[in-house]
Amino acid sequence: MVSCHRVLQELSNYLDEDIDPDLRAAIDEHLRGCHRCSVLVDSTRKMLYIVGDERTFEIPGGYSERVHQRLTEYFAKH
Ligand SMILES: [Zn+2]
Repeated sequence: MVSCHRVLQELSNYLDEDIDPDLRAAIDEHLRGCHRCSVLVDSTRKMLYIVGDERTFEIPGGYSERVHQRLTEYFAKH
């Protein structure tokens, strides 16, 4: 079972689907049991979809850093 922290670490790869299948399965399983992470993945995916950049966290203009910062703050608070 992966931890919430691991999900955060792998979030970019997970959304990019550039991830080991075993790890992906483990994250999927985590998301089924963890409302916090499933909301996080869902909202991040929507945010990236709105931006419309398939490169996810490589968006120019410091966007990726801001996202990462927010996610880090989110995890620090919860
Ligand atoms: Zn979690």
